[in-house]
Amino acid sequence: MKYSLFKVIPILVMAFLTNPSYSQSFFSDGLSPEFHKGRREALRELLPDNSAAVFFNNPVKNRSNDTDFTYRPNSDFYYFTGFREPNSALIVFKNPQTIEGKSVSEIIYIQPKDPAKEQWDGERLGVDGVKKYLGIEHVYLFSDFLKIPAIDLKQFKSVLSFDLGEIERNDYNSPLKAMVAALKSAHTTPTKPADMALNSIMEKMRVIKTEEEIQVLRKAIAISGYGHMEAFRSIQPGTSERGIQGAHEFVHKAMGAEYIGYGSIVGSGNNSCILHYVDNGVKNLQKGVVLMDVGAEYRGYSGDITRTAPVKGAFSPEEKAIYELVLKALEAGTKACTVGADYMEVGAAARKIINEGLVSLGIVKDGERHPYFPHGIGHHLGLDVHDRGAYGILQPGMVLTVEPGIYIPEGSQTDPKWWKIGIRIEDNILITKDGNENLSEFVPRTIADIEKLMKEEGVLQKTGLPDLDGVK
Ligand code: MN
Ligand code: MN
Repeated sequence: MKYSLFKVIPILVMAFLTNPSYSQSFFSDGLSPEFHKGRREALRELLPDNSAAVFFNNPVKNRSNDTDFTYRPNSDFYYFTGFREPNSALIVFKNPQTIEGKSVSEIIYIQPKDPAKEQWDGERLGVDGVKKYLGIEHVYLFSDFLKIPAIDLKQFKSVLSFDLGEIERNDYNSPLKAMVAALKSAHTTPTKPADMALNSIMEKMRVIKTEEEIQVLRKAIAISGYGHMEAFRSIQPGTSERGIQGAHEFVHKAMGAEYIGYGSIVGSGNNSCILHYVDNGVKNLQKGVVLMDVGAEYRGYSGDITRTAPVKGAFSPEEKAIYELVLKALEAGTKACTVGADYMEVGAAARKIINEGLVSLGIVKDGERHPYFPHGIGHHLGLDVHDRGAYGILQPGMVLTVEPGIYIPEGSQTDPKWWKIGIRIEDNILITKDGNENLSEFVPRTIADIEKLMKEEGVLQKTGLPDLDGVK
C-alpha cells in the first residue's frame, strides 16, 4: 500500500474538524477565509474618512414558473466574504465602531437556518456556521439589518454602496429588498445606482491578483484549456455547434468547475463572424471554420480562451492566410504585455499587423478603414470574465486577455472567397515583474498543432449517442 493509514487518518480527521466535506455555502477548496479577511482589511485602508461600505449579495433570479437560475454570488461580495448564500449583506466600517460594548469593524447579515427550506434548497450555514467557516465574527440575521445591533448610519460622512437599483426592481427577493429599503431610509447620502468612489476602490483592488487568486485562476484556465483540447478532438464533419459546446462543458464539469464563465460561444461558418454568438444551434457542420470562445468558472474565477478550428480537420488556403495573420497579431500583442507598457500599446501592436496583413492579402486597400477587427484587444480577467480594472499601465499581478480577431461576414466589400471566415485566438496573460506568463500556453494555437490534435478521437465520438431523428 502506498500510503500508510496511520498517516492518512489524522489528515482526514483534521479535514473533518476544520471544514464540512462539501458546502454549497462556500468553497472549502477555493480561496481561504484569510484571503477574504485580508481583502476586507485592504478595503478599510482605501475607504474615505469616516465612512462605511455596504455590499449586498446578488438576488436570486427566476428562470421560469417555479424554477430559478443557479445562484451565482455577487463578485465583490464574494471577494470580501467567500459566502455563496443569497439574502446576505456586508457592512465594512472605515474605523472600528463600539457597538454594544464591542469593537466592530465589519458585520455580515445572513439568512437564518430553516430545516424545512433546507430540505428543498440545500443546507445553510446559519450564524454559527458563518462564524466557524468564514471566520467573520459579527454575524446577524437579515431581519435584524441595522436594528440588532442598532447602527446609526447618519453619523458617517459617507455610506458607499451599489447595485441597489437591480435589487429594488426585483420583486423576487423580499429580504434583500427590505435591507435595501432600510439602508436608504437610514442615511442621508443620496443613493446613486453605482457609487463612483466605491467603484474606483473596487477596480484598484481587484485589478491586481494576489498569489492565492492566481492559483485559482490557473485552475480555471487549465480546465478551460482542456475543454478546448477535447473540443478540437471532437470536431469533424457532421458535428453540431451545440455538440462542440457540450465537449467543452463536459470537461468543465468533469474537472469540477461549478459554472461556465460566460455564455459559451461556438460559431460555425458565418456565425464565426458574430462576436458574442451564443445560440450555437447549427447542426451537421460540413466545412468552414468554427470559432470557440469558451471558458470555465472555477471557485468563482473564470478562464477566457478562444480557438478556431477547421471543421474538416485542415484549413483551406484562405482560412490559413487569415489564421496566420491573427496568430502573428496574437504573438505581437502577447510580447507587448510587459510591466510599464500601456494596454493600448498591446492593442496597437496587434492592430498594426492585422491592418498591414489585410492590405498585403488584398482584402483592403492601403490606408482604407475596415470593419474586420471591430473590438478591443482584451480585458482584465478574474471573478468576472470582463473583470474590474482600468485599462492603463500594466503591473505585476494583472491577468488580462489578448484576443485579436478578423471577421469577414458574408456580403463584405471584398472578394467572396474571404466570406464567412471569422478567426479569433485568445490567450490569458499574467503580468510578472520581468515580463509575462501565458497561462493558456498549453492549448494548441499553431495550424500544425491544431490539425494534429484534430486527428485524435474526441469525447463526442466516444459516446456513441443515437441520432435524435431515430427517436419517435
Ligand atoms: Mn473570450
Ligand atoms: Mn475575452
